[in-house]
Amino acid sequence: RALALREFELDYQPQIDLSSDCPVGFEALLRWNHPKRGRVSPLAFIPLAEETGLITPIGEWVLRTACQEASSWRGDISIAINISAVQFRGGGLVETVLSALSQSGLKPELLELEITESSLIDNTEMVLSTLRQLKEIGVRISMDDFGTGYSSLSYLQKFPFDKIKIDQSFVRGADESSNSRALLKAIASIGASLGMKTTAEGVETEDQLARIRNEGCTQVQGYLTGRPMGAGAINSFLDKKLTKDLCA
Ligand code: C2E
Ligand code: MG
Ligand code: MG
Repeated sequence: RALALREFELDYQPQIDLSSDCPVGFEALLRWNHPKRGRVSPLAFIPLAEETGLITPIGEWVLRTACQEASSWRGDISIAINISAVQFRGGGLVETVLSALSQSGLKPELLELEITESSLIDNTEMVLSTLRQLKEIGVRISMDDFGTGYSSLSYLQKFPFDKIKIDQSFVRGADESSNSRALLKAIASIGASLGMKTTAEGVETEDQLARIRNEGCTQVQGYLTGRPMGAGAINSFLDKKLTKDLCA
């Protein structure tokens, strides 16, 4: 009903490239404007939507809306979209992506699909074959929340991800624990060796930013460099950043 009543909305959080300090993309984050409960976090309703299968139509709405909105952004700014494991099951994901791209006119290279390790646990072969088809179209694939699942390293061996998103727990844990620091450094180095970008998630302080820069992560996404914002705020964010910092 929320879909029909247009209660869903997307916020977008900037992703900053650390070699230029310029925004290079945004991640679409789903919000539910509930008439009584107010703004509901995706963590509160996505698990249920996955259980009931409703994540498929919701995810399709996210994909189409985000591609459409991103197609009007200036420059070559990419859009990252979270894809749930359940969306691989029905079999229509590649067709939906193709349709969202052609409807919006967005270049496939600007679309990044974020999947978590849990997507790969069941039906690994089927998921991998879908990912290969998506890569053939030119779409990029990121591994989200890296390091929190069951066998992250084996998935890196099985599929050439374009990007590893290092889970927030390693980034913020690095403030207090030398273990987290060592792991952060090791993951950045794995990414570099495999030719994959590495995005540090959840960076909130200048100290954390300095650390992830030092460890060789290639991108950052966190409250420090930009909170999730409504679609209407993006062009002015880009205008300000791209001109002020003399980004390309
Ligand atoms: P995620 O994909 O790992 O997204 C990053 C989450 O971290 C977002 O939470 C974002 O607001 C939050 N975040 C970013 N920077 C910081 C920071 O500096 N500090 C802290 N404390 N948090 C930060 P959000 O928006 O609540 O989304 C939570 C999760 O819900 C996402 O995690 C993703 O797994 C899922 N999700 C969101 N939108 C969608 C969607 O459209 N489809 C699907 N399947 N899942 C979605
Ligand atoms: Mg994500
Ligand atoms: Mg994440």
